Amino acid sequence: MTLATPLSPAAHSAAFERFPVASLMNVTQRPPAVFTHGRGCWLWDSEGRAYLDLVQGWAVNTLGHAPPAIATALAEQAGRLVQAGPGFYNDRAVELAQRLTALSGLDRCFFTNSGAEANEGAIKLARKFGQVHRGGAFEIITFEHAFHGRTLATMSASGKPGFDTLFAPQVAGFPKARLNDIDSVRALVGANTVAVMLETIQGEAGIIEASATFMQALRALCDTHGLLLMLDEVQTGIARTGELWGFEASGVRPDVMTLGKGLGGGVPIGAVLARDAVCCFAHGDQGGTYNGNALVCAAASAVLDAVSAPGFLANVRSRSAQLRNGLDAIAKRIGSTPVRGRGLLLALELPRVDQALRVADTLRERAGGPGSQPGLLVNPVRPQCLRFVPALNITADEVELALSLLDSSIAR
Ligand SMILES: *Cc1c(COP(=O)(O)O)cnc(C)c1O
Repeated sequence: MTLATPLSPAAHSAAFERFPVASLMNVTQRPPAVFTHGRGCWLWDSEGRAYLDLVQGWAVNTLGHAPPAIATALAEQAGRLVQAGPGFYNDRAVELAQRLTALSGLDRCFFTNSGAEANEGAIKLARKFGQVHRGGAFEIITFEHAFHGRTLATMSASGKPGFDTLFAPQVAGFPKARLNDIDSVRALVGANTVAVMLETIQGEAGIIEASATFMQALRALCDTHGLLLMLDEVQTGIARTGELWGFEASGVRPDVMTLGKGLGGGVPIGAVLARDAVCCFAHGDQGGTYNGNALVCAAASAVLDAVSAPGFLANVRSRSAQLRNGLDAIAKRIGSTPVRGRGLLLALELPRVDQALRVADTLRERAGGPGSQPGLLVNPVRPQCLRFVPALNITADEVELALSLLDSSIAR
């Protein structure tokens, strides 16, 4: 392997000359590279630099970049039917809804274009359920540090610090409990409570698991008070945790479950799944122009084909064990706490605050031009915490390479 060639200022300006990024609204800190193509676990930028990608579009690329199965499904579907319209049935949406309900044990499905929209739909469904069945109850208990999306209601449901004042006033009706503290939930239950909503593993908070005992206690509490248990599986669903659904670890079944991210394998689609008894939308209550269009449903079906194939989940678990062992060895060496998470949703805590961004920058900046050392893309999900969400079909060699790049970088 050749020595690392850090990004030169000349390379930045060359990329930005061809791609004047100032024409994009500046809503987040982005590294000085413009990505142009990918394949599997690999991503390339406009200057020909290669990156081993453990971010994968923020945990959405279930099968990696540009997977042939999705490319074929999209191309075939694009030549047949893209969208018949939300006022008509299409074959691909019906097929996908059937598959998702059969796989989840829930009865009905409503498609959306994103995870936030799926949660927004679940929130509306719970409020409607409260109107129809619970005397107008509307409060949904959510959790500190939760992340449910960036619409006004899902930001209000989130417990991310700062979300409460950004774009104030918030949407009312989301009292916050503490994860893994059932008494904190019980204390919030009142006549207006209609549901409890949570992630089975808090992703954006830095991979914090809801324990199995907590999930079971929540299910019991919801049953006692007639509350809906709504699981946001936007990040944990579709095999990310090594099982098809995050809830399988606790055996607790939700009344409502939301999906996004991995469902489309990078193509934007989300879904709300619910038990039949919960599905109380009247005609006109809920909808959306692009919802359940045939194009994205075809992509999601291709993802389901892949994750349902024999050996797929077994690979997620083996690669998870391999990555976790390697990360745990690094954690031990740097005096950090054991790795958190399940499946290929893992987080490494770093010894010092504000190290995560620096480590992520260093790993990425190692990328040289064609033929030289690759960069490594990891997500500094919190100032002191790196998140690893590779493609679920990552190979053992790729995990090993990622670990060696990480190990040598964190050594310094
Ligand atoms: C990413 C995420 C969302 C939001 O999904 P978008 O597609 O970005 O709207 C909601 N909930 C969880 C748990 C997420 O990880």
